[in-house]
Amino acid sequence: MIQTRQDLSHVQRAIVKIGSSLLTDADTGIRMQMVEHIAAQICAMQQSGIQVCLVSSGAVALGRVHLGWLGKVLSVHEKQAAAAVGQSWLMEAYRQAFAHYDVQVAQMLLTKDDLRHRRRYLNASNTSETLFSAGVIPIVNENDTVVVEEIKFGDNDNLGALVALMVNADLLVMMTDVDGLYDANPQEYNDAKRCSVVHELDHDIMAMAGDSASQFGTGGMLSKLSAAEIATRGGVVAAIVNGHQQHVLNDLMTGKDVGTLFLCGEDRHSRHQHWIADVLDVAGKIYVDAGAAEAIAHKGASLLPVGMTAVVGDFDKGECVEVLADSLVIARGLCNYNSKDLSCIQGLPSKNIEKALGYMDFTSVIHRDNLVLTPVKPFHLMI
Ligand code: GLU
Repeated sequence: MIQTRQDLSHVQRAIVKIGSSLLTDADTGIRMQMVEHIAAQICAMQQSGIQVCLVSSGAVALGRVHLGWLGKVLSVHEKQAAAAVGQSWLMEAYRQAFAHYDVQVAQMLLTKDDLRHRRRYLNASNTSETLFSAGVIPIVNENDTVVVEEIKFGDNDNLGALVALMVNADLLVMMTDVDGLYDANPQEYNDAKRCSVVHELDHDIMAMAGDSASQFGTGGMLSKLSAAEIATRGGVVAAIVNGHQQHVLNDLMTGKDVGTLFLCGEDRHSRHQHWIADVLDVAGKIYVDAGAAEAIAHKGASLLPVGMTAVVGDFDKGECVEVLADSLVIARGLCNYNSKDLSCIQGLPSKNIEKALGYMDFTSVIHRDNLVLTPVKPFHLMI
């Protein structure tokens, strides 16, 4: 288990996520020097026995350049078209850079749907295993042409975390253009300090993120923290490092004090909980009173109909719903009843379910085993 920077020397499999702002230039397209710099470091990791998978953004940004769509606000379909054009430029750059080391690369385009469907998930994970054994570097991006905003991973930081869990990696490295997480904005405050190791992603840490995204990618520091949260809860250590820094991956892997390292806490998600918390789509909302919120959040209780105050959405039994108290999402879970039946039993003691519905399959609305508390959110997003 990785508990210190020095333990990173035990990593066997790593995901390295690279953002658009590192790789692309608004005027000239791909930054070939950066791609070569990354390829050199990844090949050195591979030489030292670590299996590496890249998650790379850049398709939309490169597509913009090659289509002459700079500075234009793109519609969803234009973004998808740009991604389709840019993805081949992106892969060509990686292919050339890794060819210097005689290393093959493989393109893997995934959607969130692929991770939700058992067979497709298994296919993707088996393919990556086969690529790792063949010494090939898988390069993952979202399959932008077939997804629209609502069903996207959100950003490639999130995709990186989900891929890290899919391939059972030990480490997720997010390469960006800042040195790590700072306790204040380093561009505004001279005395801002970099956090070297984060043991727990609590409110204070989340509040350091700010909410600005960089110019080219969709992710900012906040999306990196949320990816670190998903990864560390699933048992994968995460790091944010500056991709411009020479040998930064080697420095990280040899225990030097670079970037910010996020260690895994005690409180881990099982695969089932990860599925509910990070992968499934939310089909509806259930509002609960203060007593139910307290019982769910602090007493390990299931959600009972008596604590429900409202049901929003049209969903089936078994679907994933959010549980809210005072408009704050406190948990997610798999529902034992459909939305119509829930509206009939809301506020009732469980012993009255049968009378209200004519049947009673479960005494709870969401059983504790299918309920996952929501991770901390930065204060400015809570309001
Ligand atoms: N898939 C997008 C691209 O390759 C990037 C999404 C992101 O960076 O978050 O351009």
